[in-house]
Amino acid sequence: MTGYRTRFAPSPTGYLHLGHMASASHARAMAGREGTFLIRIEDIDAQRCLPHFEQALREDLDWLGFESALPVRRQSDHLETYRSELARLHAMGLVYRCGCSRAQVQAGMRGRAPDGSVIYGGCCRTACIAADRPHVWRLDMARALATIGQAPGWEEWSPHGTQLVSSRAAEFGDVVLGRRDNGVSYHLCVTVDDARQRITLVTRGADLFEASSVHRVLQTLLGYDAPLYAHHGLICDDTGQKLSKRDGAESLRALRDKGYDAHRIIALARASLSDAPVTPADRYADR
Ligand code: GLU
Repeated sequence: MTGYRTRFAPSPTGYLHLGHMASASHARAMAGREGTFLIRIEDIDAQRCLPHFEQALREDLDWLGFESALPVRRQSDHLETYRSELARLHAMGLVYRCGCSRAQVQAGMRGRAPDGSVIYGGCCRTACIAADRPHVWRLDMARALATIGQAPGWEEWSPHGTQLVSSRAAEFGDVVLGRRDNGVSYHLCVTVDDARQRITLVTRGADLFEASSVHRVLQTLLGYDAPLYAHHGLICDDTGQKLSKRDGAESLRALRDKGYDAHRIIALARASLSDAPVTPADRYADR
């Protein structure tokens, strides 16, 4: 193998901050000289992803010297592709319409999934929700796992070699694969894109570590190759919370306006990464 193919996949919901820079430079470093580094814009949320943030994101990445080896992929240009992959899962009898409101989902929840999201109680699983009623599409996780036979874990990269991480997919319950507004979702699109872009090493922050269990299920059902994963630590603020656009983390452009050059910003981002282990010891599986 001559180097990994990696990607940096930001969402244009605000200005890029140091956390993004850490992620981008991690992805580029893991691709190395031999590999391929790609940029993807994850903009399926039409309410929150705004054109001026996308413009700013592209300018910031250019200024910082991050270039995609192939044309940048924008998820909003590929909605039909995601919907047709969802249709394949539908044809396998593995997805169903759920007409529950947000309040109904909360009221019937079965607890929290490993990533902190709500576990759906399942009341629409056997109901017949008319197509003209507002609905989301959910994966019937139990049926999906029964189809596969065994929940697939994943190989997590480490400097000492890769290690198999066990799956917690069953603990997610029936995740949403198609949102009410556009019929697609993060889990679906990221899985389809990583396969379409032939990503061999998925690098991303530790906050998305647990979601990999769901993505491995989708990859297996859809017949995609399994990439390797390399989750990295997060940059946290003084209160220990992950930096976020919503909480007003200082943007890369604000740092530039203060006189920081590209080299210093990248070095600062890498130095601020938490070096706490990303994979809890009890998640490694016996081979
Ligand atoms: N778009 C996601 C984010 O901005 C990253 C998704 C991923 O790397 O899987 O956090």
